Amino acid sequence: MLLKGKAAIVTGSTSGIGLGIARALAGAGADLVLNGFGERDAIEDLRRSIASEFGVRATHHGADLSKPDEIAALVAHAEAEFGRVDVLVNNAGIQHVAPVEEFPVERWDAVIAINLSAVFHGIHHALPGMRQRGWGRIVNIASVHGMVGSVNKTAYVAAKHGVVGLTKVVALETAGSGVTCNAICPGWVLTPLVQKQIDALALSKGISVEEAGRLLVGEKQPSKSFVTPAQLGELAVFLCSGAADQMTGSAVTMDGGWTSQ
Ligand code: NAD
Repeated sequence: MLLKGKAAIVTGSTSGIGLGIARALAGAGADLVLNGFGERDAIEDLRRSIASEFGVRATHHGADLSKPDEIAALVAHAEAEFGRVDVLVNNAGIQHVAPVEEFPVERWDAVIAINLSAVFHGIHHALPGMRQRGWGRIVNIASVHGMVGSVNKTAYVAAKHGVVGLTKVVALETAGSGVTCNAICPGWVLTPLVQKQIDALALSKGISVEEAGRLLVGEKQPSKSFVTPAQLGELAVFLCSGAADQMTGSAVTMDGGWTSQ
């Protein structure tokens, strides 16, 4: 129980990768603040099932991460509930796909706010307590798109490159303090965020959703298999372990070989 007695916030943990990471941290004993959108009863079921399955305390805070005040309230909620934030996983993210000249300005602003600025705001509020206690783990969920580009993803790629840069600076500013800051860069993971892109591909090519899934993953990911949220969860737990004490400022890929090409 590596994280027994520690408290973690995982943003965007009502779905996909965030949920996988939240479950893995709970499995390692961490108390949890879940965050993200969804239907109220479904979120309550999720919260209760994680708490009982892993024997941890879990709460949910519905902060909209496009709003800096609500991010401050999310961190304050965790500190009020658990007296501490030891692990901050900045995971919430959205995608919008369009050529740059057609990219809606409002979508650009939303992607930058949620995928990049929210990471800054979360760290800004959670770091003082971590420093005070002399221990903390900040895990930013970037993407292979923090390292390479893909067409039609200007906002996403800009935000994720920004997250990798932000991770490096926070690592430098916290070096030697007991706090580490790393980024995880996943390749394709089959979540609702990616399912939308698969559905759009199936529609545009007139092929089945299954075929579109194989096409999408095969085009970029040499392993031709999706990464899973559970695998990313285990990587996040590793970054919280003592073995990772000297790992900071890293951008760790888990991408089936995508960025090796
Ligand atoms: P998802 O759509 O399954 O989950 C996104 C989560 O973020 C949900 O819980 C949603 O409610 C929450 N969220 C969205 N907007 C929010 C807001 N304004 N405020 C609070 N919560 C909000 O997506 P996912 O695929 O699990 O993505 C999670 C992260 O992983 C994102 O940062 C994404 O960019 C990154 N990522 C995903 C993939 C992939 O292939 N799925 C690959 C690399 C990186």
